[in-house]
Amino acid sequence: MNDLQDQHQNRINIAIDGPAGAGKSTVARHVARELGYIYIDTGAMYRAVALHMRRLGIKPEEADRAQHEMNNVVIELQPGIDGQRVFLNHEDVTDLIRTAEVSQLASSFAQLEGVRSELVRIQRLLSAKKGIVMDGRDIGTSVLPQAEMKWFLTASVEERARRRHAEWQGQENVTLEQLMHDISARDKQDETRAISPLKQAADANLLDTTHLNVDQIVQLMVEQARLRMDGEQ
Ligand code: C5P
Repeated sequence: MNDLQDQHQNRINIAIDGPAGAGKSTVARHVARELGYIYIDTGAMYRAVALHMRRLGIKPEEADRAQHEMNNVVIELQPGIDGQRVFLNHEDVTDLIRTAEVSQLASSFAQLEGVRSELVRIQRLLSAKKGIVMDGRDIGTSVLPQAEMKWFLTASVEERARRRHAEWQGQENVTLEQLMHDISARDKQDETRAISPLKQAADANLLDTTHLNVDQIVQLMVEQARLRMDGEQ
């Protein structure tokens, strides 16, 4: 067996879950880059679905229509220079899905079985060959319960709103107070839904990122992942 095959044999899947704005996607992207893994932003998939449905005038209350429409949704994630690009039926929607309205709509469509089952099917297919860092709400509990390493990131709601505010600066006219309110409402909806609610997996490492910076979190995760890949954990 050559070195490359050997490396591949040791690849693991890493699941990162947590509430909105806990730093999951930034951290996941960096961890994937350090390990030479592929990053999959599952939140972007729910956002792309929400945008598609909104364009067609389909409401989250119309579960059957939404389920049927999932047959016409093709979502692709591609690495770009400034992060992952998201394509909806071959159109680049990366910027269009990062609005307050799409955030809330994504959370509403994410409650539907017909939407979740299709996205989870794709997420599992993408993870089959290992070497994946996947972030979302239900990765450790439902999408990849066998993932070799699981993290649950949290941070105070104030800190999470502050981070989103800094991220969105100049793009949307939204106040810090409004963001705090929106994030709390979305967390509540994600935590209390019937199917695959946002929850820490029993075997996930809990990490409060309120007082940590991205480099510290990435370093910790990469170290732990390398130990696991070397069979030392
Ligand atoms: O992570 P992000 O904030 O982009 O996710 C948008 C919404 O998509 C979340 O609020 C959640 O309702 C939904 N989601 C989900 N399961 C995932 C990822 C996201 O339900 N694995």
